[in-house]
Amino acid sequence: MSARQTAPGKLTLVGLGPGDARFLTAEAQAALANADTLYGYGPYLDRVPPRPGQSRHPSDNREERARATAALAHAAEGQNVAIVSGGDPGVFAMAAAVCEAVDAGPPSWRSLDVAIVPGITAMLAVAARMGAPLGQDFCAVSLSDNLKPWPLIERRLDAAAGAGFVIAIYNPVSAARPWQLGAAFERLRPHLPPTTPVIFGRAVGRSDEHVAVTTFDAADPAVADMATLVIVGCAQTRIIERAGRTPLVYTPRSPSEANK
Ligand code: SAH
Repeated sequence: MSARQTAPGKLTLVGLGPGDARFLTAEAQAALANADTLYGYGPYLDRVPPRPGQSRHPSDNREERARATAALAHAAEGQNVAIVSGGDPGVFAMAAAVCEAVDAGPPSWRSLDVAIVPGITAMLAVAARMGAPLGQDFCAVSLSDNLKPWPLIERRLDAAAGAGFVIAIYNPVSAARPWQLGAAFERLRPHLPPTTPVIFGRAVGRSDEHVAVTTFDAADPAVADMATLVIVGCAQTRIIERAGRTPLVYTPRSPSEANK
């Protein structure tokens, strides 16, 4: 309790989940209701119903570090501040940006009450729509080379596919990064059978949701946009076709299942 008494303010990172309010946890809802001030990328803030007396600070998607610094400074004035993230705040999102800012910032920021409220991240929402593609070991890779060099991404793709991980690909393309997903597929091609299932999940949890499965040899990088998460299976990932129903895609829990 003493920490709370001396803490000058509170900063909560709130995961909104992938789409509409169905995906918001009760904890996230309470954190949003209790905040005096909200920060975040404009379209994410628009998902939060307005509350009288609560101020909002929308910002551009690429201004993560500046947003983190502004929110910390605001919390240090004694405010209860929340930063919203799509999906989970710890997955390619604001929680790490806030930790970086605390690490580099004034000592007084270390006495702030910082809380992280998890959300359903895109790969879990996409996987759930299709079956159990993440049923065995998997990893997540962001193709954004804004914060890391492309050769490092290539090394990680090689290592992941070479070790048999299912790979969830975040940030597959953007207006400024049109070629990365095609290059990633070329990098993965030598490691994977042509029949490996590939899932494209777009805007999951929103009204324009579209989820589809294809095989690696037929996968067209051009169908992905900024709102798409791609799951590339491993050699054991299978598609169960079902008459009159969407297929079930799954990765058996044991690699030896593939030999049955
Ligand atoms: N913190 C977020 C990820 C931010 S990175 C999370 O945990 O989900 C942004 C990337 O996430 C997008 O380029 C896309 O690959 C993925 N993404 C976010 N929301 C999505 C959704 N509703 N459907 C599919 N992919 C989504």
